[in-house]
Amino acid sequence: MERIEEKLKILADAAKYDVSCSSSGSKRKNTGRIGDASASGICHTYTEDGRCVSLLKILLTNHCIYDCAFCVSRRSNDVKRAAFTVEEVVELTMNFYRRNYIEGLFLSSGIFKNADFTMERLMRIVKKLRLEEKYNGYIHLKTIPGASEELIKEAGLYVDRMSINLEMPTEVGLKMVAPEKDHESVKKPLAFVQNQIQEYKAESKLIKHTPQFVPAGQSTQMVIGATPETDLEIMNVAKTFYNDFKLKRVYYSGYIPINTENSLLPQVGSRPPLVRENRLYQTDWLLRFYDFNLDEILNPKHQQLDLDIDPKLSWALRNPQYFPIDINTADYKQIIRIPGVGRQSAMKIIQSRKFGRLSEYQVKKMGIAFNRARHFMRCADTPIILGTPSMEYVKQTILQRNSTKYLTTVSDTQLSLF
Ligand code: SF4
Repeated sequence: MERIEEKLKILADAAKYDVSCSSSGSKRKNTGRIGDASASGICHTYTEDGRCVSLLKILLTNHCIYDCAFCVSRRSNDVKRAAFTVEEVVELTMNFYRRNYIEGLFLSSGIFKNADFTMERLMRIVKKLRLEEKYNGYIHLKTIPGASEELIKEAGLYVDRMSINLEMPTEVGLKMVAPEKDHESVKKPLAFVQNQIQEYKAESKLIKHTPQFVPAGQSTQMVIGATPETDLEIMNVAKTFYNDFKLKRVYYSGYIPINTENSLLPQVGSRPPLVRENRLYQTDWLLRFYDFNLDEILNPKHQQLDLDIDPKLSWALRNPQYFPIDINTADYKQIIRIPGVGRQSAMKIIQSRKFGRLSEYQVKKMGIAFNRARHFMRCADTPIILGTPSMEYVKQTILQRNSTKYLTTVSDTQLSLF
């Protein structure tokens, strides 16, 4: 038992660098088995540096034949190594689950021997959990780059989500810190799984009892700040991956310096770029849910996101011609572009104005960030101001009033999304 505890310590610690742990999108229902994966996602906990981790998030092993400079499990790193057996992972998951410690399993691995050797063990774990233990909880499995399609296909029948990490956003960046790896070995399995998802979905329309295949879809993760890609390059890659592989999520993981030997990487002791990570998530959100085009937020003239203000505010300040927006006449798509107004608040505005023109005091009650929004919108009682204030003045006013939210010195904690 002590040996298992020690392995757990090593392999849970090594897994903490992977941030792609959310379980959104799963609808696995309890059918007389043990547990279920709820659609609203599994419980997460937050580590001291603000990262979100699910409760049983482990590696099968931290042995690895590769030597990616940014990774704590790289073969040249002098760390304690450990590996679980298939039975140990199954037993741990079931024991934790029965005690209510966890609501799902996030399983990844270093690569021992070769990709198939590792993938075969991962596949056996998820198969055993589902078929022998009747485990019905959430499973997120990392695919091993280079593993055979047969193994990926079989594993896909037992898991909710699969993911495979792109690591560095561009091939050039990846070659700088992991010359043995390439993006092709990530794209290939992503495309294969995507095809299988579509095939199983199509088949389920014709045959009632077609099994589910990766029902919560796929995701990937990029490491940010280890290599010199711009935010424009990073978001271009994310956009391509969302389009080409219909990913549910792209995760952006600010690089935590852990390598003292590689001079190309940020030095140990430097702070992880968590504010930048947060800005990338906000941009990702704007592209997926706010109908923004990437070139409105990032383009050759504006290749990096502002760190002191969020990307929607930054866009609004650069585009004063679209403002102020009259919330009593504008459509939903225009209203969600007002800085400080989210999708829910925009819906509330649309619903409420059916009963009469809205004044500022009514809009304030709808959950908007009024101190930001007021510079960009007009309500029924907004006073007419002669002349237009400069956008630099607006920015400074917002920054002064929101000193805690936008404080740039808070660079090692995560900010709220909007
Ligand atoms: S292959 Fe994965 S686990 Fe191995 S060193 Fe590279 S990033 Fe780390």
